[in-house]
Amino acid sequence: MEMKKLILGLGVTGRSCIEFFTHNNIDFKIFDTRTKNMIDEISDYESIQEKIYFSETPKDLLNNIDEVIVSPGFNPKHKLLEDISKSSIPIITDIDLFKRSNQAKIISITGTNGKTTVVSMLEHVLNGCGCTSIACGNNGKSPLTLKENYKYIILELSSYQLEYMTDFTSHVSLITNITYDHIERHESFQKYLNIKKNIFKSSSNLLASNLIKDITNFPKNIRFFGIENKNNTCLINNKWNKKIIFNNKKIYLNNDSFEYKGMHNLYNILAVLSISEILDINIEKCFGKLKSYKYLPHRIECIKSHNNTSWYNDSKSTNCDSTKAALEFLDKDIILILGGSKKEINYNSLSNIINEKVKLIIFLGENKDYIKTQLDVDVPTFDVDDMNQAITLSKKHAKPYDSVLLSPASPSFDMYNDYIDRGIAFIKAVENIVN
Ligand code: ADP
Repeated sequence: MEMKKLILGLGVTGRSCIEFFTHNNIDFKIFDTRTKNMIDEISDYESIQEKIYFSETPKDLLNNIDEVIVSPGFNPKHKLLEDISKSSIPIITDIDLFKRSNQAKIISITGTNGKTTVVSMLEHVLNGCGCTSIACGNNGKSPLTLKENYKYIILELSSYQLEYMTDFTSHVSLITNITYDHIERHESFQKYLNIKKNIFKSSSNLLASNLIKDITNFPKNIRFFGIENKNNTCLINNKWNKKIIFNNKKIYLNNDSFEYKGMHNLYNILAVLSISEILDINIEKCFGKLKSYKYLPHRIECIKSHNNTSWYNDSKSTNCDSTKAALEFLDKDIILILGGSKKEINYNSLSNIINEKVKLIIFLGENKDYIKTQLDVDVPTFDVDDMNQAITLSKKHAKPYDSVLLSPASPSFDMYNDYIDRGIAFIKAVENIVN
């Protein structure tokens, strides 16, 4: 009997696997833990409906399966994964599948925060410097559906992907930063860190931020990037680069300079400069291209200025460190809209910066009480039930030169489909209420 592949999960990754297997005449089955009516666009799959299994696993599901492709969102504790391991069927990811047929050089990026920013910045710089490249992976663009050839493939990898990947081959691998996150899935910080470190296996050039503290078990040949605040100097590939300096707003190289958006983005810029140096790209040219990079939406995005109050959408912030980065970037007298769906993180790490810069907290989301029990702050707080109430209240309290910041430090799934949906709700409410 002909052997088949089993795809776990019918989301963006599962769909790209279906396209890839269909195109390459490889037979497959699909299993998704949801019921049929919970799947969006189910009508797209009418022609292959006999291949899809929903919610319950049939007894013979693993018969004739020679390989399993697991989607990042598939529950790692699902009994089926245990059965697959017992049957010794190899488990891989779409990234491994992609690497089998790809000839381009791979640049792999992971980290708790900054992944999508760094891969998009790098894509912009490399293409601008004449090196064709594309950013794909965890940023939502599936590598398996790429239609063109590129010199460099920039892979954004989350811990959910690195957990099951088997082929780590890369020309460059980089970790932007690692802070406390995703403990629900990985159980402990140490396990999360170990999974992130997988990115350094089989890589020719290893890079990491000098902010990462727990490097005891990191490979010896890692090179670091970062800054040194005393002398305002920059570290690129383990060398303090005397030509590149910065102040609290701008970064300089020779007679050239541009404004960066917060210290966290200075790190992102230095990550890109470090990779570009490894790829032998002229640093002045690379610096020039960085000037025209446009920051992505939903990341400290200024969406409106009204009566000298600025309104910022940072809906992509789903942990404390990213909210800290936003609070550090803005001047004080901030009205902070905080909260979302539940997550095991210690919100107390935000207490100091909130006391220093925030004048009012508006709690929105199912984890408000959890956050409150952890924060040690001396700032007035309000609870609201929806975004419109949050904006109405912010408008009432906002004075000229204040900033209103949606930076939830939490996922969005309690009230929204995803962070984009939440960001759009914020933008719409501001458009309707602030005028
Ligand atoms: P990721 O893809 O890792 O989620 P993004 O670039 O999409 O990262 O940014 C997610 C959030 O983290 C945003 O709120 C953004 O402002 C913030 N952020 C971006 N880069 C960094 C960084 N280097 N350190 C801390 N926070 C960052």
